[in-house]
Amino acid sequence: MTHAVVWFKKDLRVVDHAPLWHAVGHGPVTCVYFIEPSLWASPDAATQHYLFTVESLRDLREDLAKMGLKLHVLVSEALDGLIQLNAQKPISALFSHEESGNGVSYGRDKAVKQWCREQSVVWHEYRQFGVTRGRHDRDHWKERWEITMSAPLIAMPNTAVDSGLAMPRATLPSPRQLGLDPHDPPLRQLGGRTQALQTLHNFLHERSAQYRGGISSPLSAPTACSRLSVYLTYGCLSMREVFQVSVQHIGQLGAAQSRQARGLQSFVSRLYWHCHFIQKLEDEPAIEFRNMHRGYDGLRENDWQASHFERLKDASTGWPMVDACVQMLRETGWLNFRMRAMLVSVAAYPLWLDWRPVGHWLATQFLDYEPGIHWSQMQMQSGTTGINVPRIYNPIKQAQDHDTQGAFVRRWIPAMKKVPDAWLFEPWRMPLSLRQAHGLSAQDLPTPAVDLVVATRTAKTLLFDRRKQPMVREGKAAIVKKHGSRKRLDSSTNRRRPAASVNQLTLDL
Ligand SMILES: Cc1cc2nc3c(=O)[nH]c(=O)nc-3n(C[C@H](O)[C@H](O)[C@H](O)COP(=O)(O)OP(=O)(O)OC[C@H]3O[C@@H](n4cnc5c(N)ncnc54)[C@H](O)[C@@H]3O)c2cc1C
Repeated sequence: MTHAVVWFKKDLRVVDHAPLWHAVGHGPVTCVYFIEPSLWASPDAATQHYLFTVESLRDLREDLAKMGLKLHVLVSEALDGLIQLNAQKPISALFSHEESGNGVSYGRDKAVKQWCREQSVVWHEYRQFGVTRGRHDRDHWKERWEITMSAPLIAMPNTAVDSGLAMPRATLPSPRQLGLDPHDPPLRQLGGRTQALQTLHNFLHERSAQYRGGISSPLSAPTACSRLSVYLTYGCLSMREVFQVSVQHIGQLGAAQSRQARGLQSFVSRLYWHCHFIQKLEDEPAIEFRNMHRGYDGLRENDWQASHFERLKDASTGWPMVDACVQMLRETGWLNFRMRAMLVSVAAYPLWLDWRPVGHWLATQFLDYEPGIHWSQMQMQSGTTGINVPRIYNPIKQAQDHDTQGAFVRRWIPAMKKVPDAWLFEPWRMPLSLRQAHGLSAQDLPTPAVDLVVATRTAKTLLFDRRKQPMVREGKAAIVKKHGSRKRLDSSTNRRRPAASVNQLTLDL
């Protein structure tokens, strides 16, 4: 007697789940999730990722039980676990989603593929998003994405035959046992499909009314943004179901809700970005480790200043907006796009830090860490892709634009509550006597490690000098071909089409 194995990875749901659907049609099924020590030992892994996964597995276990299937959670490297399952009962076929993960998961998938080949086990892998395996360029990518998102959801099996495999019961390892720093942001989002559906529902029906105009300020963003990223990262929701239900909801909104409809349209366009960025890592896994444009090699690597990095991680750069964002991340595991971009920009330009260590640290801080989006964005915001015009965010201006009254910085940095409005944006300039009068110590208001204007000017000069080099300019075309989006041209006029529908995607690449 054999069994088909469904290997759950970052697809912790039963809805719109092609591997599960196909495996159930194949015969008796074993559902498994591996807690892989090597993955949790990676520098991008964090306790919050692990606990969120465990919460999601609980929901998954219940949903599988409703269709008569048992979820086996094994603490094992995937390959060792498959060997063990195969020893108990020969595996007839392996079913999973494709994963565009970090270098460790990529290496593990290659080892599993090799083993499947040796054992004559057919491994059926299915696409989870609009990301396509084996592509050489981006021609027609957007059209394929739209077709994928519009295709009917994969049905959920009503009943299934469990293989009946008996595995010894084991207790889940603690984060510490996996070698993780135990910090878990106390206000982070909770895992699982139930939470995911609630978040989706209250975003579509209530919060999306604030999406337009609400997503840039860190004050309004926590409720105005969808907050769905983490549920997409762990696959508690399928991208296709989110896309379809959103488009359907836009169609149901009346004229009086046109602002909400426009907000939802830009939300839907971001679902496209999600896949667009993951596709970059899928096509070139090395961008986790090296510059997308090799012409930027050596730009910052040799200038590493550990003290700058420590101040950034410690929320003590002295720029209140930056420190408040780091503090918010620590407490919630989430930050809106603009503030993430500002953090990376500050790290990359005035602090002149290489994106790799900063990226590993931020990966552990973001609950929704998705390697494809993360590493592409780290490089984009650090100016090493070669195809994006560098955007340099001034943290003082960001505070003036998005936290005019200082409510955000005062929420996350207690000392800022004592700072009078006049010194809100540059508190380190407060005269000593005034500080003392307000009960503020030197540690409360650190002077920034660098002069923002001077350090940013120096960084820009270094970057733009590099951009002008002929070898750097020449290398750009190949990167655009491989990774750049193809903006849709009207074939009859060769002009860009006007924004018209949900499918008209405004991309910032
Ligand atoms: C340096 C940096 C690192 C980032 N790392 C991640 C990451 O690891 N995981 C992640 O999901 N997002 C990442 N983002 C993108 C973005 O900041 C988050 O997707 C967003 O803040 C999540 O909140 P939300 O779900 O409420 O977003 P919404 O604004 O509601 O967006 C809806 C969905 O669209 C997708 N999306 C939104 N913005 C982007 C974008 N710029 N690129 C790609 N997809 C996008 C996400 O799936 C998101 O859930 C990163 C951005 C930066 C600048």
